[in-house]
Amino acid sequence: MILKNALSFSHYLLQQKVQPGNAVIDATIGNGHDTLFLAQLIGQKGHLIGCDIQEAAVEATRKRLADANISLASLTLSANGHEQITQLVDPQLYAKLTAAIFNLGYLPGGDKTITTTTDSTLSAVKQLLKMMPSGGLVVLTVYYGHHQGKLEKEALHTFTNALPQADYAVLNYQFTNQKNDPPMIIAIEIK
Ligand code: SAM
Repeated sequence: MILKNALSFSHYLLQQKVQPGNAVIDATIGNGHDTLFLAQLIGQKGHLIGCDIQEAAVEATRKRLADANISLASLTLSANGHEQITQLVDPQLYAKLTAAIFNLGYLPGGDKTITTTTDSTLSAVKQLLKMMPSGGLVVLTVYYGHHQGKLEKEALHTFTNALPQADYAVLNYQFTNQKNDPPMIIAIEIK
């Protein structure tokens, strides 16, 4: 099958955008799978900022990067929520920011009561759209099988569908004939 699942498609988008030396953001690091993928794209001259409200996620991600012998120009991993993203990114890096990824919901195998929320996700996305330069890409993988996820999906659709076409391109990617609320991608590219 040539149609990619949501996770593969999110990585495909990041791969098209991110170049060695860029600055990138993982706004929900969890166990660090997306963080490692981004770190490999930006290479030794790249800058990576990641956050998660769970300290254990920060530790797991730090270990995953160390085990893969990742070396970067700068790495900021924070146990603050992504609603603090403006405080976490050095303004000197704004011009180098090419991509940010959100993997919403709860950590698979973790505490299902700790999920991303509509308010914090929307706040972070709005801050990123102000912070990132032209060409910047924000990719959200949205899981909406749980109650909070459904609220988040609706709020994100309302916000992103209203973004002015002259300034942003907004894409939704989803299988439409799958059972059990398959994850979807919302991608926003700044023109
Ligand atoms: N991409 C991760 C990976 O590769 O393992 C999985 C992310 S998991 C689906 C969602 C994560 O978002 C959880 O680890 C959760 O703690 C985190 N999270 C929840 N609220 C958050 C917030 N306000 N800011 C940052 N992370 C948050």
